[in-house]
Amino acid sequence: MPTQSKSSKKKKSPTRKAPKYVYSFGNGKADGNGKMKALLGGKGANLAEMTRIRLPVPPGFTISTEVCTYYYDHQRTYPPALEKQIDEAIQKLETAMGKKFGDEKDPLLVAVRSGARDSMPGMMDTILNLGLNDRTVRALAERSKNERFAYDCYRRFLQMYGDVVMGVQKRAGEDHEPFEVVIEELKQELFPRDPHVSDTKLDAAALRTLTDRFRTLIRERTGKDFPENPRDQLRGAVGAVFGSWNNERAIIYRRKYNIPHEWGTAVNVQAMVFGNTGNDSGSGVSFTRDPATGEKVLYGEFLLNAQGEDVVAGVRTPEPVLQLQVEMPEVYRQLQDVRHTLESHFHDMQDFEFTVEQGRLFMLQTRNGKRTGFAAVRIAVEMVKEKLIKPDDALRRIPADSLSQLLAPVFDSRARKTTQVIARGLPAGPGAASGKIYFSANEAETAAQRGEKVLLVRVETSPEDIRGMLAAEGILTARGGVSSHAALVARQMGKVCVCGASELQIDYATNTLHVRGQNFRKGDFLSIDGTTGEIFPGEVKTSPSDVVRVLIDRDLTPAESPVYRVFAQLMQWADQRRTLEVRANADQPDQVGHAVAFGAEGVGLCRTEHMFFEGDRIDHVREMILAENGVERGKALAKLLPAQRSDFAGIFRALKGLPATIRFLDPPLHEFIPHDEASQRDLAEKLGISVDRVARRVKELHEFNPMLGHRGCRLGIVYPEISEMQARAVFEAAAEVQASGTKVRPEIMIPLVGFPKELELQIALVHNVAAQVQKERNVKLSYLVGTMIEIPRACVVADEIAKSAQFFSFGTNDLTQTTLGMSRDDAGSFLPRYQEEEIVRQNPFAVLDQGGVGKLMETAVKLGRSTRKDIKLGICGEHGGEPDSVKFCHRLGLAYVSCSPFRLPIARLAAAQAALKQ
Ligand code: PEP
Ligand code: MG
Repeated sequence: MPTQSKSSKKKKSPTRKAPKYVYSFGNGKADGNGKMKALLGGKGANLAEMTRIRLPVPPGFTISTEVCTYYYDHQRTYPPALEKQIDEAIQKLETAMGKKFGDEKDPLLVAVRSGARDSMPGMMDTILNLGLNDRTVRALAERSKNERFAYDCYRRFLQMYGDVVMGVQKRAGEDHEPFEVVIEELKQELFPRDPHVSDTKLDAAALRTLTDRFRTLIRERTGKDFPENPRDQLRGAVGAVFGSWNNERAIIYRRKYNIPHEWGTAVNVQAMVFGNTGNDSGSGVSFTRDPATGEKVLYGEFLLNAQGEDVVAGVRTPEPVLQLQVEMPEVYRQLQDVRHTLESHFHDMQDFEFTVEQGRLFMLQTRNGKRTGFAAVRIAVEMVKEKLIKPDDALRRIPADSLSQLLAPVFDSRARKTTQVIARGLPAGPGAASGKIYFSANEAETAAQRGEKVLLVRVETSPEDIRGMLAAEGILTARGGVSSHAALVARQMGKVCVCGASELQIDYATNTLHVRGQNFRKGDFLSIDGTTGEIFPGEVKTSPSDVVRVLIDRDLTPAESPVYRVFAQLMQWADQRRTLEVRANADQPDQVGHAVAFGAEGVGLCRTEHMFFEGDRIDHVREMILAENGVERGKALAKLLPAQRSDFAGIFRALKGLPATIRFLDPPLHEFIPHDEASQRDLAEKLGISVDRVARRVKELHEFNPMLGHRGCRLGIVYPEISEMQARAVFEAAAEVQASGTKVRPEIMIPLVGFPKELELQIALVHNVAAQVQKERNVKLSYLVGTMIEIPRACVVADEIAKSAQFFSFGTNDLTQTTLGMSRDDAGSFLPRYQEEEIVRQNPFAVLDQGGVGKLMETAVKLGRSTRKDIKLGICGEHGGEPDSVKFCHRLGLAYVSCSPFRLPIARLAAAQAALKQ
């Protein structure tokens, strides 16, 4: 077995028992179990578990992930104790199967598969039919009485082994895989008039020729012979599987899904069962429920007379598994039983692989099935009703982010009725997507970087396409089934996906797509519906999802929408569990209305500068900025006051007594003034001043780094009349709405505070105006004044700031920017590289940098509370709607998170998950 490192052999103490590296399973017994995923990988642990619950699993053994870790820590060598343990496991396997490795009468053949803790579909290598060589293939032919089958297995083995272990792959400049070229050449020789015949037309003799040519190809390309000895083959295969943990696509996948590189993969060696012995055999992949919609039906596909790899590779389009009801009724009945056994044992929807060998069912794998956001919610809610799980389990298992799919747009039904369907494929990832079509992952990625909306169109996708898939709005393929890699990966990414649209003729050479007499070129628009599988020409208008229609548009009732009903049930459970409040970042009365519909318990951030972008308000703001003295500024502010007041009143009304955090003006001033000559002339005319004066003021206001310039409370300090106007607008609106019988709870928030004195000055001013308004209107208003914590200094002097601040709200956008010294507007140019190099795992502007920014927040919380025990704490940066950051805020003990209205459901679920963890 694997080569040992001599030095480590010497170091080994003869008395110490070596760790267990190899875990056998078979005939109802297993060394491992389903809980041992960290050690045995997901596949290995569940093979053991399925064996224990007496499902028909071919026997085998799992080499643990610790060996993978050892392998990478020790210059790709193995622990000394491994070889003996593998020998013993092979002996057990031989006994269980009654066959021997390399036996020339009845050889044992095995499959060697990777299996990480979390599944990484198609990212690592697999080798089937291992154990075949020129002699054992003849034994297989004799015993199966099927020479064609035996040589088909052999040529598949040579091809996989040659590719994966010996590295016979496409070289730069080659368009096709070398083994495929050999197959095509042989077909041309044998069928000169029909060179595109299917592989099934190749008879035993042809396949034997193919195996000879494959061996020659391997020798020519590598200078080495294909290894005849099954033990050598196994050694090579195990090494290749461990090696594939670090291939490029696996690394990209791990980065995307945050799978730590240290985890490593296990290797599963398992007796082969054959789905390709004839028409009473086959292979399939099924789900215990529909992974796209969540419906409780056996769902999946099956290929007659094929090995498992054919199904997942998406090369042949399989038939629905329900078809087995007709073709193999007994197998179908067994599958239904298996489905129930799996769900009642694992308490979750399972995605399982099986093989039927001459009418006998074998289970090759099971795992919790990947599913769309729709399916995740429906399955969890329905499983609670079926008493398979508890509401808390339902909350725990739905990735909070996946709720975004339930809010994603669908095609506008009217626009869709007037657009003709040009073709159909399999609905593999729901939602509606339109985009310009690109035929290669690279081009799709580059176009998306240019800001285009992109659809990736491929004959079939392979894991190499992952970057293009990530960049695309949607994915469309001509071949492959709903469990092909394209579909699995797309679903997991929440991408819209239609696959297996076999009418599409895709020509990579000319970058064209031909379908039913129409041609589409690279860059033309297409639209796809991943819920129905329909494909439309051009750009079809999209319309809001069911949830949005029920909650916001109100043109659909809950009774009419099953999707809405499961969503609402889940939200109800989440709200019962969470202790964090959720608020919304909203600046307009209608946005506030949406936010309340999505569950907001208040406004956590009203950015008042956003209220000025409408109508002629911008001109009044410009007038205020360009003013050369207090009198002029006062005039401009007087024009702004009524607009602000009516907006605030609208917000208070929409909130119906919920609190509203209103932040005083915080724009870099230059954003509001015109920079080109024509607009300056225009403005000068409107304001009745000279163009020169406008131009001069613009010049004076120029800042090299506006993000660190005259913004935030610095404006209110230098021009107190601005803050006075805002405070007056807030209190007058509050008085007005309160008088109409609606409770109002304004919380005035001062931005960008670093020095306690800044806040003290602004607070004094606010109290002053409040007193004036209360006197003028003869009312009593209750309100809070607090600050944003968004620069590091504020965090480290939070105890002093808390003397005057009644609340803190973490502005983590600026706090990230200022802590990292990375401009939030410019970081895009270098952050992707930082992520590739893993300097940062995720974009810190999206996912809170807990180790840095988070530490500062912790300090601020501690210091703030040391001065004011019950200080109200919240967050209103973008991180407030990101699940991991929400969980962090829960641990910090914040009172609320605030995020954009459409992310509120995500925040509610994440907050419930955080509460459940404690
Ligand atoms: C922040 O900095 O996190 C914040 C919410 O304020 P803004 O994004 O408006 O700077
Ligand atoms: Mg800010």
